[in-house]
Amino acid sequence: MNLSATEQRLYEALSELEVVDAHEHLPPEAVRVASRVDVFTLFSHYTRTDFISAGLAPQDYERMIDPEEPLAERWQLFAPYWERIRFGSYARPALIAVREFYGQEDITEDNYEEISARMQAANKPGIYHRILREKCRIRVALTQCGRTDVDRDLLVPLMPIDYYANVRSAEEIQQRASDLGERVSSLEDYLTVIEKGVAKWKSEGAVGLKMASREYGPADRGEAGAIFRRLLERGTDHLPESNPLRAFLLHQILDLAAREELVVAVHAGMWGDFRTLAPGHFIPIAMQHPQTRFDLYHMGMPYVREAGVIGKNFPNVWLNLCWSHIISPKMTCAALDEWMDLVPLNKIIAFGGDYSKPVEKVYGHLLMAREDIAKVLAGRVEEGLLSEEQAVKIGRQWFYENPQELYRLELPAVPSPNSNPRYRKRLPGGLPKGGKVRG
Ligand SMILES: [Zn+2]
Repeated sequence: MNLSATEQRLYEALSELEVVDAHEHLPPEAVRVASRVDVFTLFSHYTRTDFISAGLAPQDYERMIDPEEPLAERWQLFAPYWERIRFGSYARPALIAVREFYGQEDITEDNYEEISARMQAANKPGIYHRILREKCRIRVALTQCGRTDVDRDLLVPLMPIDYYANVRSAEEIQQRASDLGERVSSLEDYLTVIEKGVAKWKSEGAVGLKMASREYGPADRGEAGAIFRRLLERGTDHLPESNPLRAFLLHQILDLAAREELVVAVHAGMWGDFRTLAPGHFIPIAMQHPQTRFDLYHMGMPYVREAGVIGKNFPNVWLNLCWSHIISPKMTCAALDEWMDLVPLNKIIAFGGDYSKPVEKVYGHLLMAREDIAKVLAGRVEEGLLSEEQAVKIGRQWFYENPQELYRLELPAVPSPNSNPRYRKRLPGGLPKGGKVRG
């Protein structure tokens, strides 16, 4: 991408910084290297929405990404729809990945087999370290993969609140209890199980829990107790998505998170009927739990202004740009520029790749994030509101210090940009001429 001179200088300075990747779904590396990969693995994630929205039938999409099906047939499914989605921002990290890791400038009929062979050859132990640490400069990546047995030098887990809050049968309840050597005969017993389970997650390295911004409805202890008794007696009940038991347990766990010093990450926006996930649903929850620290995800897209004002008004809510840069760089930049007016600098977290299997795409997403942050900060520099040195300092807060502080990550100190001669060299006064940012 072509950047202005100021944007380019800031982009290069930001590229030198270490990163706390504040949201992924990466499983342990052993899971990735045990699976077969090929070029379509690069389309196994968010691009699904674009392929299907562009007209590919869902069952054909599933075939397209199934490594057990013949590669050539899958290319036939892929090719016409690729032309429809290839200039969208979901697609760009795949193109960056084939260029940076597999030596190809594009994905075509002539090279899809070659890319696939190279991907499988590179799918070996060490791939996470090579991509995340060496290529991306990621110090740690927070990951939500439903388990805590990850390489703690590189990955830090968050666990789902709904595992304990959204129980729908006696079997589920007793299974959660028996995993911890307990048996449940009342709601009080179950609250003890939850305390034990959450403390166990924390002892295994978890730094946070995850929920979604929804209308959960009132959390009445009496009603919750009645539903819980019915579940234990009858085995199951026809509970709607939002019900008083789920709401009650959620609120209990949000207080528990504060006591355990766990951050609560909050999905907001996007997906399906995104109105049901609007960040506004989360306002009363944030207000009822002032001691709990929340990390509001995805800029609440498309409700970016609402999310910004939430970050401004509530001291216990941080704003995380995970996923945003690939949803739309333009929306991200426009909103972030407004957020600079609104939101204190310590509340913004610049990056989370939000990928699971295609770890290669984290790099392209991070490159796009650096571009976005460089553009927004450069705009402010050109308006005379910031110096370039101040801009780099802000970038360092957003990419590293803020997520480190919010999640209380114990990471070895890295030199500050202003004391490091490598950064000094890049700031006005002694700037090297940088090449253009590609991709
Ligand atoms: Zn996610």
